[in-house]
Amino acid sequence: MTQALWFDPRDLVAAKRDGLELDPARLRAFILAYTTGEVPDYVAAAFLMAVFVRGLSRAETEHLTRAIVESGTTLPLAGISKPKVDKHSTGGVSDGVTLVFAPLAASLGLAVAKLSGRGLGHTGGTLDKLESIPGFRTDLSPEELERQVESIGCAVAGQSKEFVPADGALYALRNATATVASVPLIAASVMSKKLAVGTDLILLDVKAGSGAFMKTPEAAAELARACVGLAADWGRAARAAVTDMSQPLGSAIGNALDVAEAVRLLRGEEKGRLRELTLAFAAEALVVLGGEEIGKARERAARALDSGRAAESFARMVEAQGGDVRVLDDPWAVLPRAPVQAVVAGPAGILAAVDAEALGRAAIGLGAGRVKKGDPIDPAVGIEFFPEIGDGLDGSSGVAMIHSRDEGSAARATEQVLRAVTLSDQPMQPPPLIYSWHVSEEGAG
Ligand code: URA
Repeated sequence: MTQALWFDPRDLVAAKRDGLELDPARLRAFILAYTTGEVPDYVAAAFLMAVFVRGLSRAETEHLTRAIVESGTTLPLAGISKPKVDKHSTGGVSDGVTLVFAPLAASLGLAVAKLSGRGLGHTGGTLDKLESIPGFRTDLSPEELERQVESIGCAVAGQSKEFVPADGALYALRNATATVASVPLIAASVMSKKLAVGTDLILLDVKAGSGAFMKTPEAAAELARACVGLAADWGRAARAAVTDMSQPLGSAIGNALDVAEAVRLLRGEEKGRLRELTLAFAAEALVVLGGEEIGKARERAARALDSGRAAESFARMVEAQGGDVRVLDDPWAVLPRAPVQAVVAGPAGILAAVDAEALGRAAIGLGAGRVKKGDPIDPAVGIEFFPEIGDGLDGSSGVAMIHSRDEGSAARATEQVLRAVTLSDQPMQPPPLIYSWHVSEEGAG
């Protein structure tokens, strides 16, 4: 799959540093050589920073994506009999959509084969969340993934030696070198995982706002266009929604906490923005793949949540991937729980803005995410943040709950949470949940 480098890898770094267009063959060889360890971390880190600062052209982004896809095996999923859909988020805070979407779509007769990521920057990662369920395995082989999707309708796995290994390596390095928030790097990372798997529809949740890597809807729309453009280059159908991340999407910011919140949604016990966005993606999949009318599709998806059918699919997925299925009936009987729970008493006023990135960083400070490559994470810790923009706070009820290992870290997180909220004495309009949809030409029909 790879060959020894025939050039000095520092020359590729220098070319990007100097703003030159990269030679496709060299770019590909560099990425494959980094994946096998021939190019060391420090050279790849310099390359990533050069890309972060200089950017990549559309052609370079396509070559980078192709090299990442070709670093491992692809999974055409030819043996799957149902319509196949994949969904991916560009990263947010309290973004548990995938945990609910995958079993929900399976319960609606679709097949979901998903390669997910770990926590990145201040954002959480689906793999870390699922692995907080005791026994849950995300290192599925290609054969296991396909078999599971055919038999139960959904599977969520991670990058591995076989699946997009270059993304696994670059992802961890970006996280450790402040090179995450770059349109071409995010687009190549997200789309390599989607293009490696042969689904009929790729749904992308491109986040915009304080908790996203793209801070404005306009910047997120640029990322959405880059992603659906890559799908079009591959002849694949994709739809990208630019969605609001100016506040946490749900209330849980952690790993076990996110799973517990997903279980509440799957049992139809919780309403709100996380449920609405998940239903919007499920409905879109039914429209594109099943020709259903959008209103009816949303109703059907809502019924699958409320009737417990989506929860049954979740239980089947957890069981198939080795996890403790009791998580569905009694999440806290099996999920790890932090010893200290501290209520953050709120200030009074109307919630005008939330620095969701600061909340994500506060959760990392508690141990919920990584600072250095390979850092262990603590699945039990995190933050529950309750109010939404536009809510009136009376000053006496709690705005958040800190789940931590000790009182000292709870006190630090409390200060960070209070600094992350901006209050107003004027009524505030809540932001829309979805700003815009972007469709690849292949998916336009
Ligand atoms: N999700 C990914 O898979 N990669 C990124 O770079 C950001 C979000």
